[in-house]
Parts: sequence; C-alpha cells; structure tokens
Amino acid sequence: MLRKSKIKNNIKFDIVVVGAGPTGIAFASGFSKTRLKVAVIDKLPRKIIANPKIDGREIALTHNSVNVLKKLGVWSSIPKNIVSLIKKARVIDGDSKYFLNFDHNEIQKKHLGYLVPNYIIKKNLYKKMKKISNISLIDKTECLSINIENQYAEIILSNRKKIQTSLVVAADSRFSKIRSKMGHSTFTRNFNKNMIVCRMRHEKTHKNIAYEFFRYNQTQAILPYVKNQSGIVTTANKDLTNNLMKMKKKEFNKEMENNFNNFFGKMRLVGKRYTYPMITTYAKKFVSNRFALIGDAAVGMHPVTAHGFNLGLRGLEILIDVINKAVKKGIDIGSVDALNEYQYKLHREAAPVYFATNSIINLYTSNIFPAKLTRQFALRFVNTIKPVKQTFLNILR
Ligand SMILES: Cc1cc2nc3c(=O)[nH]c(=O)nc-3n(C[C@H](O)[C@H](O)[C@H](O)COP(=O)(O)OP(=O)(O)OC[C@H]3O[C@@H](n4cnc5c(N)ncnc54)[C@H](O)[C@@H]3O)c2cc1C
Repeated sequence: MLRKSKIKNNIKFDIVVVGAGPTGIAFASGFSKTRLKVAVIDKLPRKIIANPKIDGREIALTHNSVNVLKKLGVWSSIPKNIVSLIKKARVIDGDSKYFLNFDHNEIQKKHLGYLVPNYIIKKNLYKKMKKISNISLIDKTECLSINIENQYAEIILSNRKKIQTSLVVAADSRFSKIRSKMGHSTFTRNFNKNMIVCRMRHEKTHKNIAYEFFRYNQTQAILPYVKNQSGIVTTANKDLTNNLMKMKKKEFNKEMENNFNNFFGKMRLVGKRYTYPMITTYAKKFVSNRFALIGDAAVGMHPVTAHGFNLGLRGLEILIDVINKAVKKGIDIGSVDALNEYQYKLHREAAPVYFATNSIINLYTSNIFPAKLTRQFALRFVNTIKPVKQTFLNILR
C-alpha cells in the first residue's frame, strides 16, 4: 500500500516528483520494481487524485503510448468497452472537398490509435500507483522552493517541512512554477484563443474516423468515441467561445449541426462543455543539476494534434531508462551527466512536433489571402510527397 504522508523534517527520498497529474504518476510508477524511494507531491487532496473529475478531454493515444501504459501495468485495468479505436484521420481545409488522409494501413496497424477519456486514464494510473510500496504520495502540499546542494536537493513544502532528494522531477503543468523558480525559461506562445471540448451523440456514424475541419474563424475537430458519440473540439477567439459556452443546450446542438454542415445529422450534447486557454510552452532546457522537467512542464503542446500526453509518456519512458541505467552503473541519478541523455533524446523528438504544430496552426487559422492559398497547397504537398507524410505517420507508430 502507498505510504501515508506523515512527513517528518528532512526525510529523504531518491526521487521527488512535483505534480500528481497523469505524467507525474506514470513516471513514479515506472520505479515499481526498483529499490528507489520515490515521493509524489501534489497540492490536491488524495480524494480528488483518486477520483478525478470528468474534464471533457478525450485523449487520443498512439501505439507507443499504449505500450508504455501496458509496461506500467495500467492498460489492462482500463475497461475496453470505453476505449474507442481511431482507424483514419482526415484534415479538411475550409469548405474544400479535398482532404489530407491518414490511414491505419499506412502504418501497418489495424488502427491509427485509441481514444480514452482523460479522467479514466488518471483514475487507473492512481489505482496502480497506490499499490506500489516504494512510492509515497504527499497530498494537500505545495512545493514552494528548491535549494540545490552538492550532494542533494532540498525541497521546502507549504506545510513548512523539508525533504531531501537526489533528484527533483517537475510535472506541475505547462504553467510550472517550479520551472520558473529553477530559472528554466520557455518559448511561450499565446494564441489568444480558447478551446471548448464536449461530448456529443450524433445521428450518423463517424466510422471511427477523426476529422479536423479548419474553417476561417474557428477549427472544429471530431474524435470518434463509442456508441455513436464523439469528442467535439472547437477552437476560436474568446468572444466566440464565450458565446458558445453560454448558449442553451438546444441552441448549442443546432449550432454544432450547422457548423458540421449536417455531416453527422442531429447532434446532442452529453454532459458539460469545458474550456481551455490556448497557450503553448516549450522549456529551453529540460534538465539542470538534480532537476528535470517532464510532461507539460517540459513541453506544453497545442491540443489540436493530440500529442501532449503522448509526448509526456515518451519523455518519461526515456527518463526512467536513463535513471535505471545510472543506478546500474553507480552514477549519481541527479547529476547533469546522467540527465543529459534524457534532454538530448526528448528535444530531438519533441522539438519538430512542437514547432511544426504551432506553424500549422498559424497557417490554418490565418484569414489572409496568401495563407489561404498556402494551406490548400500544403495539404496536397503532405498528401502526395511520401517522406513528408511519413514524418507525420511516424509519430503515430
Ligand atoms: C482540451 C485538451 C485535449 C487534449 N487532448 C490530448 C490528446 O488527445 N492526446 C494527448 O496526448 N494529449 C492531449 N492533451 C494534453 C494532455 O491532457 C496533457 O499533456 C496532460 O494532461 C499533461 O499532464 P501533466 O501530468 O504533465 O500535467 P497536469 O495534468 O497539468 O498536472 C499537473 C499536476 O501538478 C499539480 N501541481 C501544480 N503545481 C504544483 C505545486 N507547486 N506543488 C504541488 N503540485 C502542483 C497540479 O495540482 C496537477 O495535479 C489535451 C489537452 C487539452 C487541454
């Protein structure tokens, strides 16, 4: 069972993870078969971490992400009747009939990926972590500051207690306070837009195809879920999204039917609408002495390409491997020498995805004429030039 959070002054851990979000918990759980003593700190109470609220996010997972969740022993506990399979993905520009198509056959798999509600992933991650005896959850506690010493890092907590550790791993969101306190700056982009996510039931089948419709004042995505339902994602300026949030249910349903040109027939809102600001962040450095960033704290992706958590899982997979190798070789797990390999590998994988995604969004949300022309050309370019399309498909493997 998970250790109770009775923390005395100057208690020692090998690794302290700040943030019990999905990345922090998944990372900590990766040390279940080791002798490392790991603590996970979160300002939220255990009750909320164990039973996360529905947040409207339907998470599209790649094959690699599912493999990571299998290795952590989490995938098998997620009921399969609430997992949807994505077979194809289509990107459509404005009202054009032309679309960019990604098909599962192109990656030699039976489907492109899986769709699982975020709260289900979080709930099952916690369920797994609570059974691991070398992990302690310190809830209702904020990490206030970190002092880096030669032999250890000292963490000052909001309950005035201090803990010592060889390595601090920040998984405290894209707005990570710890990252700023440790002097790690970011490339930050505020798109000045909001995203509304909700689930809708619709008359016509989605045939397990995900769609991204880039319109001129908003983008709409549809993520095919189970039982003729889909995750509907609308990105637009704040005035428009505020209006959509305030609309009565019936009016909202009609608006969505019209927005999709009756593509899915009658549409009905299931549950609530949730809104998120569109701000992306990319940390210039992922590591420093006794400190590493993971998940959104390292790379806070734009959700439009659905890669945030996928990159988070890839990152923690690399970092777990780097730490296990250092332990085997008897190297200090907090040393920059040990952590540099993680930084190098994650930058190499994350930078192209992050910067390409932001450029695509710039292009497809611009209303100026050259951008409209370029976006028509870009879809054909990616669709027909094999190496370019392969770059996008590689991410899905
Ligand atoms: C609308 C939307 C749709 C998305 N869809 C997809 C998708 O389809 N596929 C995909 O791969 N990704 C998707 N993502 C991205 C994915 O949700 C995130 O990448 C993921 O949730 C990040 O998890 P995290 O653990 O890094 O951070 P978070 O979930 O933000 O967790 C951070 C945790 O840190 C805690 N914390 C913060 N500060 C402190 C502190 N000082 N001390 C202690 N605790 C602290 C918080 O309480 C929280 O529990 C989507 C995101 C959005 C917004």
